[in-house]
This record gives sequence, structure tokens and C-alpha cells, in this order.
Amino acid sequence: MAEMFILGTAGHVDHGKSALVRALTGIDPDRLREEKEREMTIDLGFAWLALPSGREVSIVDVPGHEHFVRNMLAGVGAIDVALLVVAANEGIMPQTREHLAILDLLRVSSGLVAITKRDLVDEELLELVTMEVRELIAGTSLAQAPVVAVSAHSGEGLPDLVREIDNVLDHASPKRDAGRPRMAIDRAFIMKGFGSVVTGSLIDGALSVGQEVEIVPAGIRARVRGLEMHKRRVEVATPGSRVGVNLAAVPAEELERGYVLATPGWLRPTRCLDVRLRLLPHLPRPLGHNATVSFYTGTSEVGARVRLLDSDRLEPGQWGWAQVICARPVVAVRGDLFICRTTADTIGGGEIVDPYARRHRRYRDHVLASLQALGQGDAAAVVLAVLETRQPVEQGRLPSLCQLSAREVEDAMAGLAAQGRVVSLGDRGPHSMTLSSEGWERLAGRVQQAVASYHRQHPLRQGMPRGELKGRLAPLGEAWGDAIRRLVQDGVLVEEGQAVRLPSHEVRLTPQQQERVDAFLASLAETPYSPPPADTLTPDLVAMLVQRGQVMDVGGGILFAAPVYEEMVRRITGHIAEHGKITVAEVRDLFGTSRKYALAVMEHLDSARITRRIGDERVLR
Ligand code: GDP
Repeated sequence: MAEMFILGTAGHVDHGKSALVRALTGIDPDRLREEKEREMTIDLGFAWLALPSGREVSIVDVPGHEHFVRNMLAGVGAIDVALLVVAANEGIMPQTREHLAILDLLRVSSGLVAITKRDLVDEELLELVTMEVRELIAGTSLAQAPVVAVSAHSGEGLPDLVREIDNVLDHASPKRDAGRPRMAIDRAFIMKGFGSVVTGSLIDGALSVGQEVEIVPAGIRARVRGLEMHKRRVEVATPGSRVGVNLAAVPAEELERGYVLATPGWLRPTRCLDVRLRLLPHLPRPLGHNATVSFYTGTSEVGARVRLLDSDRLEPGQWGWAQVICARPVVAVRGDLFICRTTADTIGGGEIVDPYARRHRRYRDHVLASLQALGQGDAAAVVLAVLETRQPVEQGRLPSLCQLSAREVEDAMAGLAAQGRVVSLGDRGPHSMTLSSEGWERLAGRVQQAVASYHRQHPLRQGMPRGELKGRLAPLGEAWGDAIRRLVQDGVLVEEGQAVRLPSHEVRLTPQQQERVDAFLASLAETPYSPPPADTLTPDLVAMLVQRGQVMDVGGGILFAAPVYEEMVRRITGHIAEHGKITVAEVRDLFGTSRKYALAVMEHLDSARITRRIGDERVLR
């Protein structure tokens, strides 16, 4: 099949765009539009042209100024060449400037200018208009565009124009095929006996009959029943072409312009996007923080608020980092371009650097740095930038958050891990939690602070129970325990049984506390088997003695000196070994104590699963 290209027209109303398309192709774009839904084939509403080289070019000629922006955007990534039309008898008009500004914002660099209605002016005037046009395009993405004078009426210049289109296409950048087709829907309708049809420019991958697709944000899954390009049924539609897609079993009411058809599972609707925004140079006033605009990307148009992240106002001609908060969900991919308009005018546009943004604080260096990295698009930088704003992240979610393939993320992660720039916690699979090394340092810092504050609140405790740290590490999910292990390994924390402490922490008693502890331990020694109540000690002091292993708390407020408790256990188990059993009364007599202490010890041994109670007797477990 011949190579397919798409040409988009631009220019002031009545400057002769339709007449030129008609003259070039023999197809009347206006008549096409009227007939579109009556025809039995999928009519894309676009004319096409075979070039001398054998290439085929679809011509997207949209009526009316309002639709221009949208159609230009819908074709971004698909439009190979722009044709800016300027009427020789009128010269540059406001929409000429605006359309050129949009082409420039959308970085359309392959294009031509046709000076039309050449038959209406003399040589001198033509030269003047040509000069004006060259001045206008200098400094824009179309600076290198050839300028050709034509007349749709006399046919003059048309062969030159066709040749120049071929020349420009010689240098057009190749279509991107990332193996992930997507198509912003520009029309959705029903064809009798055929079902729902959507049309648009297919980009980023090929689409085949039978393939499953998803319509986002509607969340509809469907199968491609038929494909059409240039009024020909095809089995496979190639990226960069105008396509009609017949969908099986989807009611047309559920399909809308602005939706995106894509391979399932990789695009999600979003309302908050990070962008690099450039304001057009000739605006009467700057754009303030939180301004309301119409936001155009793909074929969608939504109301949105623009939060400026690095300034309070953006001056005409300047660019800045911004966050776009949309009134309704949109679908976009990193690197997609957008346009902002107010009621009547295009005010600016630029590139989407993070379609799934989180709300950022303004004037944050680390936020701006990560946007910079995202803007540059190197996979490792993208991973780090994504981590910077939403770590910890489950590794399996990184491809979708970064809009990179699983393979690209894997390679980037391997490189980053080798440089010690990322940390993975938990299992090694897709559920492992990933942080940048800076993010890990910050988390470690917060844990350190939490433990330090615990030490201040509980100076007599050796450490903070691990379980209490779990809350602090909640974003890590199951990987929280691994985080503590790593902190211990790194010497940030020291393990103390079930607790952890800072290496610098040690329990220090005041002289008064020491005195009370000494007095209590002395009283314990006096009546070891009938220990006195610990009511001279605060609960913290008791806990400390327990934690230090100096006393054993058997419950019911009864504390034994640790060696005494061990001796009792030895003698009780020895007794059972010899006699097969022991009663509470026998325990009482064994130690010359009262029933209260004997019972407390035995119940403790039961709960410690050393003994087991059968009726009034205990046996070993
Ligand atoms: P569009 O709004 O840019 O699509 O402009 P049209 O193609 O509809 O043309 C607007 C008017 O200019 C129509 O009346 C055309 O007949 C006229 N026109 C277009 N091209 C030429 C041309 O090359 N020579 C002359 N004399 N008139 C033209």
C-alpha cells in the first residue's frame, strides 16, 4: 500500500482553503461534509491526494475557525505537514497570526505557505505579501517552510505546490509506532446496518480488525469490527492515518468527541495535569495564577483552572510550569500538546509533562526540578521524577505512572539501583515498594524523629515497640517490616527485642528514681515468694525493670525478682516431673507463700503454656 500522510490546512476564513483543496484533489470538502452520514462507507470527511512520488496525502480541511484548534490538536502526532493559506489580496489577517501561533505552539515544523488567489494581484503586490509572510514565519517552527503562490481558479502554481508538498514530506519525521495505538475521537455516529463508528487520526501504533480496544474515559471495552482508510476497507490501520473504526456492540450514544480509543489498560482519565505552558507573545495582558481557561488536548475541550507553579503571573511570550485542573476528566499521554483559550482567543499552550499529577505546592524547587526531568523525557529521569512526587510506589505501577513500557522501567530501575539512586523494599516482585534514595532518606529521617520523640516521652523505656512504627510507615504497606530491618542494617536503629531505639538512647534514672528502684528490689529480696506490691514505682519504672529482665510481671500487679521466678519455675516443673502433677496448695507449701501468689504463678505458667490445668491440678504441657 502507498505511504499515507496527513496534511492539515490553516488560515484566515475565506482565504481560499476549500477552493485550494478542491483544485488539488477534485474532492469538494464542503460537499463531503453534507453527504457524510448518508453514505454507506465510512466517510471521514476528508479529501485525499496522490502525489507524484506515489505517496497518498489525506487533507484535513476543517470549516470555521472554532474547529481549527481542535482539529489541529487531534492531528498532532498524525499531521505530517501543515498548509498555511494566505490570500494574496488580503495579506496577513488576525486568524493567520493565531493559526501560525498555534502551529508554533504545537511545534509543527513541517509545512508550507500557499499564497492563494494569486490571480487577483499583480507581481508587485504578490512580492509584498510574500515578504510579509516570510517575516511572519521567521522565528516560528515554520521558519523553513517554502512559500508558493497559487490560484485555485487558474490553476497557476498548483504543480509547484504539489511538488513542494512531496519535498516537505521527504523530510517529515517518521511516524511513531510505540505499539500502543490510540485515537482521539473526532466524530461518533451510527451507520445503518453497520453500527457505531468513530473517526480520528490514529497515532502511536497500528490497529487491527478483531483487536480489543478501550474507550477512555467512558471505560467501555469493545472489539474492532471493521476499519476504513480513504474509503477502503482495511485489516490493519497504520499509525499516522485518518481512520474510521467500526465498533461491535457499543451504542453510539456512549461515544463522544473528545474520548480516546486505545489499547486497553494503559490510559486513565485524569483531571490534574502538569504542563509546560507558553503564553503567546502578542497578548494584551499576562495570565494570573488560578485563571480559568478552555483546555484543549486531543479532541477534547474542557473548562480548567491554571495554577502557576513558579510565578504569580505569566507575561506574554514567557513560559512557566503550571498545573491544569480540569472540570471534567481528560485523557492524555506525557508529551502530548495542548492549547489554552479564553472566550475568543488562543492565549497559549505547550506540552503535558505529567498527565497524572498530584496537586503540588507552588514554588517548590523539588517539584520544579522533577517537572524539568519529566519534560526531558529520559526514562531514568522520568522514573525519579515520578517517584519524587508520589513515593513510595509499588513497582508494578511504575510503567503506567511513568507512561513507559515495563521493559523501559525495568532497564531504568536496574541503572538507578546500580547507582544507588533508588531503594526497593518488600518482596522483589511487582509489589515491592520503590523510593528514590532521597525519598528513602526523608522517610528514614521521619522514622528517626518518631523514635526520638518516643524516647523523650518514655525516657525509661528501652525502645519504641515496632508495632507503633507501623503507622508511620503505613504508605509502605506490607513492606514496613523490611524498612525497619533496613534501618537496623544501616545503623539508624538498634533492635531491642520487639522494640527499636536510636543508637544514642540509653535509659538513665534520676537519683530519686534509682533510690526507689533500689528500695523496691531490696524489699523483693526480703520476702521473695510473697513479693510486696510495686506501688512505690511508676508504671514506667516497672516496665523498665521488666524490660531490663530484672523482674517478672506475672499479672495481677505481682512482680517477682527474675532469678526467684526462674527458681520457682524450675522447682514447680521438677515437682510435676516427679509426681506427675501439682496443685495450687502444693505450690503454696513449696514456697511457704500464700494461695494468692501460688495461684498467680500457676495461672501465669498456664498462659505461658508451660503447664496445663486439669480440674484442680496442673500437668506439664
Ligand atoms: P476558505 O474559507 O478558506 O475555505 O475559503 P474558500 O475556499 O471558501 O474561498 C473563499 C472565497 O474565495 C470563495 O468565494 C472562492 O471562490 C474564492 N477563491 C478561492 N480561491 C480563489 C482563487 O484562487 N482565485 C480567486 N479569484 N478566488 C478564489
